[in-house]
Amino acid sequence: MARLLQSRIRFRYSAGMSGSASPASKEPDRPQAASPLGAGDPPAFEIVNPEGRAPFLLICDHASKTLPRALGTLGLEARLLEQHIAWDIGASDAARWLSRRFDAPLVRAGYSRLAIDLNRALDDPTSIAQESDGVDIPGNRKLTAAARAARADALFRPYHGAIDAALGRFRARGAVPALISIHSFTPVMNGFARPWHFGVLWDRDPRIAVPLIENLRREPGAVIGDNEPYSARDPHGFSAAHHAGSHGYPHIEIEIRQDLIDTPARAAVWAERLARALGPILADPELYRVERFEGSAAI
Ligand SMILES: [Zn+2]
Repeated sequence: MARLLQSRIRFRYSAGMSGSASPASKEPDRPQAASPLGAGDPPAFEIVNPEGRAPFLLICDHASKTLPRALGTLGLEARLLEQHIAWDIGASDAARWLSRRFDAPLVRAGYSRLAIDLNRALDDPTSIAQESDGVDIPGNRKLTAAARAARADALFRPYHGAIDAALGRFRARGAVPALISIHSFTPVMNGFARPWHFGVLWDRDPRIAVPLIENLRREPGAVIGDNEPYSARDPHGFSAAHHAGSHGYPHIEIEIRQDLIDTPARAAVWAERLARALGPILADPELYRVERFEGSAAI
């Protein structure tokens, strides 16, 4: 499994990139395509509470359903752009709430996963998905390599560069950061009603995962998925493994079921439940150590 993960996470971006939209376009032979971002499009990422004093960083890869205006609707009906294929419904509200609750910095994505999935390596076949939950995505079919690269330069690299920079600010003050990645999952997938309220996705590093599952299971009536509805071992996600696992930083990817957090008020209720379970784990100074676990992706 670890080898699989390693082979899937081959992406590296150039050092020193920091939020600008064109760092990787210097290779002489590379065909150029116009950036999908134009005047009036929002930034590729937002940093919430950048001066937050918590010892960990929150990220939200699928926070937004916004598409760059140049991509139109990708050929999809407008109603589909509101649904889970476009974004993690409620995840941004939950992440913002946690950011306030813990005084933690949060890096949230500015654009929909339909433009490019920030939680996939660039060489993953689902990086720019041509299909999602049975829906064809016409605007993602037959893209040229240059068009794919333009999306990566405009959206993927700035977002991941912002996470790098945020983690760098911890290191600059001599701290080992932890990384908490907040996602949400659709309650029904392929006709299967998913019973879990929270999913805790982890691979080799048990430091947050094991006590978190234990604490969440103490919440009355809570159903907790241990590597459900996805497994971090299959491999599924990119961001936590790339930014934290590979450096030996404690990390976790947490999924909350979307119907529980589909309004800001409901998101606050479930984020508080999560915060009660996470709080004691994240308050332990012993957590913040570089520790490499056998088989972790080395990237
Ligand atoms: Zn997600």
